[in-house]
Amino acid sequence: MTTQSVQNFIKIHQSNIIKDFDIMRLILLGPPGAGKGTQALSIAKEFNIPHISTGNILRANIKQGTELGLKAKSIMDSGLLVPDNLVMEIVEDRLKQDDCKRGFLLDGFPRTIVQAESLDNILEKLNISLNFAINIQVDTSVLVERAVGRRICKECGATYHTIFNPSKGGDVCELCSGKLYQRPDDNEKTVSKRIEVYISETAPLIGYYQQQGILVTIDGHQSISKVFEGIAKLLRRN
Ligand code: ADP
Ligand code: ADP
Ligand code: ZN
Repeated sequence: MTTQSVQNFIKIHQSNIIKDFDIMRLILLGPPGAGKGTQALSIAKEFNIPHISTGNILRANIKQGTELGLKAKSIMDSGLLVPDNLVMEIVEDRLKQDDCKRGFLLDGFPRTIVQAESLDNILEKLNISLNFAINIQVDTSVLVERAVGRRICKECGATYHTIFNPSKGGDVCELCSGKLYQRPDDNEKTVSKRIEVYISETAPLIGYYQQQGILVTIDGHQSISKVFEGIAKLLRRN
């Protein structure tokens, strides 16, 4: 090799290392109403990675009337979890898409130990691993109020809260003037069921990722911007 080609080799090699270091593969854990979707938008923007919400993908399928949507609708309306095999199919397909090569942020997935183990298998096959599992910790007592007050823009999907984060446009979106709506599962009865399901099925994932050494926990009672600052600091420090 000439000196020039050695220098080029080092340059390319170094840039690959830097690029790989920059890649963020993240999951967001937390009970319904913890603020996962809200934070996901800022995190995805900050690290330039796609935001993958299994809840959003399922709701899009319901809207389009797909076979998956038909299967999922009544389960979601009752506050239970959609079967693992259906969710795994969605996630596996999504992670294979090109935009996930520079990292990704999974929101609302995994939700069971079976899903977490299947995700590990998929990642192993792709020869990649997660950088962090971000756990947004919020006491159960505030979750119902958070979820019941949630309003979502029909057009752009922006999330508001009637009290904690109201739209400047009132009942229309301050970003695009779209109409705001309430999710059918954001009523007190279903939210309480979803919290129960979270405690029995999803909370064990905190220990799962702690054991893997990638868990970071943030106090989700703080303001939306403070929670984001905290997450950004945790991800950069580690
Ligand atoms: P999740 O995706 O975890 O179910 P969301 O991000 O949709 O939660 O937030 C649930 C509701 O609580 C939304 O109406 C949102 O505007 C509001 N919210 C999110 N984070 C906070 C916060 N830190 N303080 C007060 N309200 C919040
Ligand atoms: P939240 O974070 O407020 O609970 P999501 O939008 O993440 O809301 O989920 C809404 C519903 O979609 C869940 O109650 C469940 O029925 C279904 N769902 C979303 N993600 C999953 C998943 N990973 N596994 C099983 N069901 C899911
Ligand atoms: Zn909007």
